[in-house]
Amino acid sequence: MNIQVHRFIALEYEKKRNRALLEVEKRKNDIYERYPELRSIDEQQRQEGVTLTKAVLHSDKNTAEEYIETLDKKICELKKAKHQLLAKLGILPDELEPVFECNVCKDTGFIEKSNGKMCACYRQRLLNLSYRQSNLELLTIENFQTFNAELYAHGGDHERYGINISPRENILRIKEKCLDFIKRFDGPKEKNLLFTGDTGVGKTFLSNCIAKELLDKGKTVIYQTSPRLLDLIMNYKMRFDRQDTFDSDEYNSLFEVDLLIIDDLGAEGLNTSRFSELFTIINTRLLTQQSKCSKTILSTNLSLEKMNEYYDDRTMSRILGEFYICKFFGDDIRLKKGRTG
Ligand SMILES: [Zn+2]
Repeated sequence: MNIQVHRFIALEYEKKRNRALLEVEKRKNDIYERYPELRSIDEQQRQEGVTLTKAVLHSDKNTAEEYIETLDKKICELKKAKHQLLAKLGILPDELEPVFECNVCKDTGFIEKSNGKMCACYRQRLLNLSYRQSNLELLTIENFQTFNAELYAHGGDHERYGINISPRENILRIKEKCLDFIKRFDGPKEKNLLFTGDTGVGKTFLSNCIAKELLDKGKTVIYQTSPRLLDLIMNYKMRFDRQDTFDSDEYNSLFEVDLLIIDDLGAEGLNTSRFSELFTIINTRLLTQQSKCSKTILSTNLSLEKMNEYYDDRTMSRILGEFYICKFFGDDIRLKKGRTG
């Protein structure tokens, strides 16, 4: 991975961590000023802690045990006294703790307990930069909390949709399927998802809802449209564009990322080499799915019949066998949203 990108992110993390630490210091000082007795307990706690460390490191073995026990007891009592005082003053213990964006790595980007392994939030930041995933910024507005089934028609139209249920009933069923997919994400047997349906019926919106939930659970996500994804790969392989920083790590992350969303499948303008790239990505991810908890969401405006004309039998049988198919239908939601503001 590009070293400059790492430097850039490391600096970002340092800034946000420092900000969190500064804020908690400020908050603590305000509270201490109002309640000096709290500061005094905190100070005693700190001093006893130092004494305990020194005792553990330097005391001679025979005298140490009893002494350390006394110190331990004292620290415990101070801790209890502090909790009681906080409760009496109506201060939540959290108010004295820093608020980090990521509680796993405490905004360091790395997890101390697992030998400095890269945290999922850091990996995701790398992916966002490498893949210029500006669409993931939409997740604050496109998520299950803002999902609105009311935008879908209540009445069915068998003639138009070829099915007896209404668009609303259908989207609610798909939503349930998506929630199920998230819940069983780590199951190697859980199928992947294929979203098919016209433009503007909520396919990208629901992909975003899933992405948001999984990111919140510490999974990594890459979202790309099929044409852009293949352009990136072809440029990387053919080295057409030497300015492009896309490198082998970034290419490999397509196979390693927890969730890969390929949107707009069928718009990529396939020729033989693009076709085989697409198949390689889908197939390799399916093969490794057994050993690694990863999943793929494909989304397309093509109907299954059209897809069958577009892709060869090998690809289609792979998709039909390993993907749960969600058929979206209804009017264009984007127009309705526009009308209702
Ligand atoms: Zn983290």
